[in-house]
Parts: sequence; C-alpha cells; structure tokens
Amino acid sequence: MTVIEERITGTVPQATQPRTWQFTDRRTGEQRVFACLPGCTINHSRDFDHPVFSEDIWCWTEAEPLTMPVNENGTPEEYRILGTIIKIEPWSPTIAHRLPFAVVELVDDHFIDGLDPDGLETVINTLAGRLDQMRATHRRLVEVRGEYRERAQA
Ligand SMILES: [Zn+2]
Repeated sequence: MTVIEERITGTVPQATQPRTWQFTDRRTGEQRVFACLPGCTINHSRDFDHPVFSEDIWCWTEAEPLTMPVNENGTPEEYRILGTIIKIEPWSPTIAHRLPFAVVELVDDHFIDGLDPDGLETVINTLAGRLDQMRATHRRLVEVRGEYRERAQA
C-alpha cells in the first residue's frame, strides 16, 4: 500500500480496499496510476478509454439522495437537498483538494465546496442551530393556531 493509499484509508471511516487505476495523461502521454478513494462511486471508465488531463480526474462517495418538494416557480418539484459527499481531486491545482474534503449540496446544484473537517463541522453546527430555530417556530405555530381557533369560535 502506498503512502497516499494509507492516508486516504485512514481518513474515510467506511474504508474498503481502494481500486487502483491506470490512465494516459493527455498532457505528457505518460501512464499514471492512482488509487480510488475508498468507497468511490464514480464510474471511471471514461477516464481510461482515452487520454485525459490528470486534473480532470476525481473520486467521490455519494450519499443516499434526499428530496423534498420545493416551489421555485408556482409548481412544487422534487429537489435534492442536504446531500454530503466526500471528494478528492488527486491532481487538483488547488492543493487542499488533493486530500479528501466534503461538499454539501444545500439544494439542487447549489453547493458549499472544499470543506475540511472543521469546515464541515461548522456547516453542521450552523444547520443544527437553524433546526433549533425551526423547532421553536413549530412550537409557536402550534400556539398561534390554537389561539386563532379559540378566537374564531368566541
Ligand atoms: Zn474513484
């Protein structure tokens, strides 16, 4: 196991044996090898049937999608919400992306990207605070509806 494989395996909790791939670097023509992020759900076949730029290769682990009906233009549609993936871009020009990082999809195609563990924790804590506020609003809604019914019956 290479140093990179050991580092990746140590970072991802549901680690399985990483898949190892070979591809042709489109810029240099050289054969390169990389080990998939453990648990990677990307179909890499497009990365290996022809030469590619190494910076265009990435791996991620996708969570089960969650959707809710969101009304953007008068008709509610099912949108993906609050999806979190772990991603790595082994040859990214952004050095921080060469280690696994998290991406949160707030709602369909709107992302908070490039989160290290502290960043993801900040997002989680922010959303947890918002859930507390929603619960308080729920309690207030129940009270307001009760008061409103009593007033309507008086
Ligand atoms: Zn992969």
